[in-house]
Formats: sequence, C-alpha cells, structure tokens
Amino acid sequence: MTLLTRRRRVILRQIVSPPYVYRWAGLLAVVAVFAGVTAVVLLDRGPATTLAAGPGLAVPAAGPPIVPAAPAPARPAIAPTLLTTTGGKGRTVALTFDDGPDPATTPQILDLLAQHRMKAVFCMVGGQAQAHPDLVREVVAAGHRLCNHTITHDPGIGARTPAVMDRQLRASRDVLVQAAGGADVDLFRAPEGRWSPELIRMSAQDGMRSLGWTVDPLDWTTPGAAAIVQRVQQRVHPGAVVLLHDGGGPRGQTVAAARQLLPWLEEQGYSAVLPR
Ligand SMILES: [Zn+2]
Repeated sequence: MTLLTRRRRVILRQIVSPPYVYRWAGLLAVVAVFAGVTAVVLLDRGPATTLAAGPGLAVPAAGPPIVPAAPAPARPAIAPTLLTTTGGKGRTVALTFDDGPDPATTPQILDLLAQHRMKAVFCMVGGQAQAHPDLVREVVAAGHRLCNHTITHDPGIGARTPAVMDRQLRASRDVLVQAAGGADVDLFRAPEGRWSPELIRMSAQDGMRSLGWTVDPLDWTTPGAAAIVQRVQQRVHPGAVVLLHDGGGPRGQTVAAARQLLPWLEEQGYSAVLPR
C-alpha cells in the first residue's frame, strides 16, 4: 500500500467498508436495470407513423405466438402501397369490417350485406379467426374479401423489430388461409391504423397491399347508432373506404347503423365494391 497516500487509503477503506459497499451495489443495480430497460426499448421499438387512432383490443401488446398448423403458400412480393380508395370509378364505396370474426356480430353483418347484395372486406384478427374458422369460411363463401389484421392485434406492430412484424403478418395470414380453406389473403391492415413505412414494406414483401381508410365514424367508441350513421353520411365520398367493426367488443350499434347505412348508400347511388 506504499503507492497510496494516507488520504487515498482512507477513501479506499470507506469505499470497501460495509455501508459503502451496499451503496455502491445499490447504485450499480439501478444502473444495470436502467441499461437493461433502455436496451429492450431500443431493440424493440422505433419511430412509428400514426395514420389514425382506433380501438385497442384486450390482447397483450406482443402476445405469445399462435402457431398455425401449416404455412400458407407464399405470395409474390409487390410494391409497397397504402390503399386509401376503392380504385373504382363513380360512386363506389368499400365497406370494411375490422377485429372479427365474432360469433355475435359477424353473422348479422353477413345477413345485411346479403340482403343488399353488397361485398365487403373483413380485416380479421388471426387469433379470432383461429377461434371461429367456420365464420371465416362463411365470409369467404359469401364472396367477401379477407384482410390480414395481425395475429394478436398488436397496436405497436409498426415499431416492432422486423422479426416480430414478420411473425405477426405471416402467422395471421397462415391462420386465415387455413381457416378459409385455401382462399388467398392479399390485403393487410395495421391495428389502429398505426402504419410505419417498414410495416407497409414488409406486408408488400409478403404480397399484401396495406388497406387504409378515409371514413372513420369511430363506431368502436360506441357513440350510438345514430352518430355512426350520421358520420358516415356526412363524410362518405366516391371511392371512400369506410372503417367499421364486427369484433373487439359488443357491436350492436354498428349492426344497427349498418341496417340504416346500407339502404341509404343504395339510395345515394353508391355501390359497395372490393378495393382494386
Ligand atoms: Zn383493429
């Protein structure tokens, strides 16, 4: 200890003496926890672009993987696109129903669409589709279009790592294709419309166009059927993509609104089409 001055020896003794050791250990533990949390946040999150808010479902943010029985045949990659129009000429409208299939709501929506000979897009959550494959088959058999809405409806998907995004997209598509008896799925919609360029690019890589919307009556906030009807009537326009929900909670108001909106759209000369 000849290298240490008396003053330094005192400081060293204080550092390694029991009370100081506990303090140092405590400080190190705090720093370690902080570093760990920072690393996890940085690894799993990045900037996300929010197009519009939407409903949050009671599912974990990054839930456990649901493994489908078999992978769906791969689709060829396409150019990254965010569709916000029907792509049709004149008074066309695309009706889209998210967060199903739901045994309480989806059959009622299917009945209404059949009565008016209208086709719609159903953006299904993979976990829901796995629980109700019969409803997926019914939707497809009636000529409607399936859209991938992730496996667990993770609203943070746009900022996840590529591996997590890929799992959400592929697992959900596999489940939908399997439940639908082989019908293809070439559309994707981000939960809550929380897109990121990376998410749009990745869905395109899997052969799915990203489907946005232009009319959001916020039916998931259950504002009353009259409010849902009025909002759609005020905002609908030729080529509109209308966002409604047939899952994620009780959707009696949406069903009641659709019962009024479908004939109203017909009266206004609108035809419900599938986006091109
Ligand atoms: Zn949703």
